[in-house]
Amino acid sequence: MPVSLKSYNTFGIDHQCAELIEITDAAKLPAFIHDLDTRGQSFFVLGGGSNVVLTSDVDTTVLKMANKGIDVFEDKSAWYLSVAAGENWHELVSWTLEKQMPGLENLALIPGTVGAAPIQNIGAYGVELMDVCEWVEYLSLPECVTVRLTAAQCQFGYRDSIFKQQLKGKVIITRVGFKLPKLWQPNLNYGPLAEFGMDTVTPKMIFERVIAVRSEKLPDPAKLGNAGSFFKNPIVDAATFASIVKQYPDAVAYALEDGRMKLAAGWLIDKAGLKGFRLGEAGVHDKQALVLVNFGKASGKDILKLAKHVIDEVHTRFGVQLEAEPNVVGQFSLLND
Ligand SMILES: Cc1cc2nc3c(=O)[nH]c(=O)nc-3n(C[C@H](O)[C@H](O)[C@H](O)COP(=O)(O)OP(=O)(O)OC[C@H]3O[C@@H](n4cnc5c(N)ncnc54)[C@H](O)[C@@H]3O)c2cc1C
Repeated sequence: MPVSLKSYNTFGIDHQCAELIEITDAAKLPAFIHDLDTRGQSFFVLGGGSNVVLTSDVDTTVLKMANKGIDVFEDKSAWYLSVAAGENWHELVSWTLEKQMPGLENLALIPGTVGAAPIQNIGAYGVELMDVCEWVEYLSLPECVTVRLTAAQCQFGYRDSIFKQQLKGKVIITRVGFKLPKLWQPNLNYGPLAEFGMDTVTPKMIFERVIAVRSEKLPDPAKLGNAGSFFKNPIVDAATFASIVKQYPDAVAYALEDGRMKLAAGWLIDKAGLKGFRLGEAGVHDKQALVLVNFGKASGKDILKLAKHVIDEVHTRFGVQLEAEPNVVGQFSLLND
């Protein structure tokens, strides 16, 4: 029975899948997959749908991860959490703080599930998942064997991991392990947190500030469909950066340890005159140029058309290639729209 995915993706795009199965018990996944295999039915995995662009109806089964459960172990130095993939990320952050287990506060209010968090190594306000992740457990496809990778084996990078590379489409993440050291170290490196004092700040103060800043800067998907930052911050070599700065002395960038520079994609888009730009039902958000929004009736193709326009304009002006962050699902892609 076809199911509308409109309420299952934060862009609010109305495309259908062939059927949707909620996975509340990861132990039942092998049986579901065996059944799909027998029927010759393809499938893809969905968490909270906050990092996908649906571009067409799909003749596919959606496995929606909804397994729950948090186990906590501790020793003298740390708390160790084993968290089911279907848990909501922000609820996990709130829960750990309520239980006096700090460490995730900088990552407050990121939408989506725990199981999707390692895939693009979610990050915000100076902290990335890789800083707190100890292991990732998944069902390896198609043989349905359970595998556990250490954080080092996950090859985490900037919005990247082994799950976006060699293991793309070959795993269903079922649980994630976290290590939260008891000797809490605040991370105040990022803009709006820098005014706090290292000795006086509390995890709750960071949590609340992050929520306040995010709520002000980012559109609420419940009101205006979006997938957060649509583009990764491009990394350029020192020579490219020098030529950009020559022309634009106000260019916003962060130095990386290897000498390269990470340019602020939002600044590039803004400078290209595209903040608030609208193409039909899709637009560049007027407060945060990194976010593409659905004004209500945009299709996935409309979003891709706008994304392509942004990529082309930025390339023409700066010679820098932007890369989309969300996963494109369906018939169309940024290359064949
Ligand atoms: C308003 C807003 C703000 C955001 N802010 C940030 C931010 O600050 N930092 C950041 O890093 N991201 C941010 N994002 C992006 C998004 O929240 C994250 O990428 C999040 O981890 C996606 O989780 P999800 O459960 O919604 O994944 P989905 O969108 O459901 O899936 C994303 C991809 O992962 C796959 N997948 C999902 N679950 C599993 C699983 N269990 N096993 C295998 N594959 C799976 C899907 O097939 C898909 O390819 C933001 C998004 C929005 C809408």
